[in-house]
Amino acid sequence: MLCVLLAQPLLGQTAPRWYRGNTHTHTINADGDASPDVVVRWYREHGYQFVVITEHEFLTDVAPLNGIFGAPGRFVVMSGQEVTQYVVDSAHPSGRRQAHVNGIGTTRVVMPLRDPAGRPARGVSVAESYARNIAAIRAAAGIAQINHPNWTWSVRVSDLVQLPDTLLFEIWNGQAGIQNLGGTDDAGNVAPSSESLWDSLLTRGKVVWGVASDDSHDFLRLEEGREKGPGRAWIMVRADTLTSDAIMTALARGAFYASTGVLLSDVAASDTAMTITIQRRGDNRYRTRFIGRGGRLLADVPGTRPRYRVRGDEGYVRAVITDSNGLLAWTQPVVLRK
Ligand SMILES: [Zn+2]
Ligand SMILES: [Zn+2]
Repeated sequence: MLCVLLAQPLLGQTAPRWYRGNTHTHTINADGDASPDVVVRWYREHGYQFVVITEHEFLTDVAPLNGIFGAPGRFVVMSGQEVTQYVVDSAHPSGRRQAHVNGIGTTRVVMPLRDPAGRPARGVSVAESYARNIAAIRAAAGIAQINHPNWTWSVRVSDLVQLPDTLLFEIWNGQAGIQNLGGTDDAGNVAPSSESLWDSLLTRGKVVWGVASDDSHDFLRLEEGREKGPGRAWIMVRADTLTSDAIMTALARGAFYASTGVLLSDVAASDTAMTITIQRRGDNRYRTRFIGRGGRLLADVPGTRPRYRVRGDEGYVRAVITDSNGLLAWTQPVVLRK
C-alpha cells in the first residue's frame, strides 16, 4: 500500500528546539485585568518563550513590549487579535452563538460582522462568519485559530465542515466554563468535546492543528483567588529560531504539540510509525492513546516511549498522552491518504 504523507510537520528532525507559547491572551486593552507589561512579564517569568496578545478588536503594539521583555533566543511577544464574532440565533438559549476567531500575527484590526448600527449581524450563519473572518485574518497576514467551540454550546460540526485547511483549532481552553469536554443536557442534546470536533474535521480530510491555550484574562484577580489564572494550557512549538516569523511558519506547518502539563522530548512521525518520547516527571505514569479516522482508538500504550506502527488505512494518526494526574498532551495528526 502506498501512503502519501500529506501533512508532515517538522518532526523528528535533528537539533530541534521546543518553544513554549500561549496563542490566546487578554490584557486591560480589552477585558483582561492587567496591563500588557504585567501580562507579558508573567509569561516571561513562567517558562514561556513567546506569547501572542489577542485582544478583542484591538491590536496591542508589541514593539515596546519586545523592547523590554524580548531577548534573542529567549522570548518574543507577537501581535494578534481575537475577532469577537457572535451570531444572532433565536433558537439558541442565549439568543446568540459565539464564533470567536483569533488572528495570530495580524497587522491590523479585523472587525467582526455587525450591522450598520453596530449590532450583531442578522441572517449570518456561524459558518459564513468563519469564512469571512478567516479570510480577513489571512488578508491581515495572520494565522486563524478557531476558539472555544463549546463555549455557551455555540458551535456544531455542521458549522465547521466548510473551514479551509491549515487552521488552528482550540481543543483545550484554560478558562472556566468553556465546556471543553462537551456533554449531554437533560433533554438528551449531545455536544461532542472540542477534541471530538477536531476528529470530525480530520475525518473529513481537513488539515487542522489542535491548540491548547490559556485565554487568560485574570492576573490580578488571580491573587484574590476568584478566577482561573494563566499557565494552564499552551503549545510547544518546534522551530529553528525564536522569531515571530519562525513561530508563524511552524504554526502553519503544525510543527507543535498542545499541552496542559505533559511535556514531550520528541515526536517522530512518518508514514510508517509515530514514536513519542515523554519527559517523565517524578513517579508519574503515562498512557498514550493513538487515534485515527472517526476518533477511533488505534492503540493504548503505557510508558514513556510509546510507538505506533502505521498500517496506512487509518486516515490519520494522532496521539493523546495522559499522565496519572490527569495532565495531557496532544500531538498533531499525520494525515495519510492511500
Ligand atoms: Zn473568545
Ligand atoms: Zn479570548
